[in-house]
Amino acid sequence: MDIVSEGNYLMKINIAIDGPSASGKSTIAKRLASELGYIHIDTGAMYRCVAYQAIKQGIDLSDEKSLGEMAQTMDISLSVDGRVFLNHQDVTEEIRQEEISVGASKVSIYANVRTAMVKRQQKMAETKGFIVDGRDIGTVVLPDAEVKIFQTASAASRAVRRYKENLGKGIESDFELLKNEIEQRDYQDMHRKESPLRKAEDAIEIDTSDMTVDQVVSKIISLIAERSYYD
Ligand code: C5P
Repeated sequence: MDIVSEGNYLMKINIAIDGPSASGKSTIAKRLASELGYIHIDTGAMYRCVAYQAIKQGIDLSDEKSLGEMAQTMDISLSVDGRVFLNHQDVTEEIRQEEISVGASKVSIYANVRTAMVKRQQKMAETKGFIVDGRDIGTVVLPDAEVKIFQTASAASRAVRRYKENLGKGIESDFELLKNEIEQRDYQDMHRKESPLRKAEDAIEIDTSDMTVDQVVSKIISLIAERSYYD
């Protein structure tokens, strides 16, 4: 069967989406995955699992050795419909708590934690047809990804999005506090020694501060088309 006539794919590729916290990478990656028939891998969820399990087991988040050992043996699986399983238990909602967001940013500074996660991520995306989002995808995990996006947005607009998202869930939050937390996580992610957040040389930067989800998705699809991977 001719693959082009099935769904406009000229060839399956891998797409890397990196960028700071709360810049909407997962939302965009999910939409792209459904439009292109690709599979989304949310690598942030994996670091969140490391933090979640460490807190549950009473491991200090600065105990690099124990975190590294734990990261090698824990079982993490991501389902195609976006659920996250840690040692076969569904933790999709639990790992979104603020305490875990902050914890994930702490445990992800350690080389042995990162090595364990990167190995798994590379194995997951070994064949083509994946949209992988994170901080180091275009630079470390999939340096050969055919399309690399660096998705940004101002701290203020990211805080507004989080604020509205929380309101939607019935949670009233302090806007300034949200903005400060976002800025702190940016600083932590950009200044760590191991795989700091940075734009890959061949990545295309998209500032989404004033863009809707639809606009970002169309922009990325047109970039893929420009490179003749989609018709
Ligand atoms: O993307 P998300 O906010 O869920 O990621 C949680 C944390 O995990 C980030 O703040 C970052 O410190 C870390 N992370 C990382 N490398 C990735 C994905 C996430 O260091 N590829």
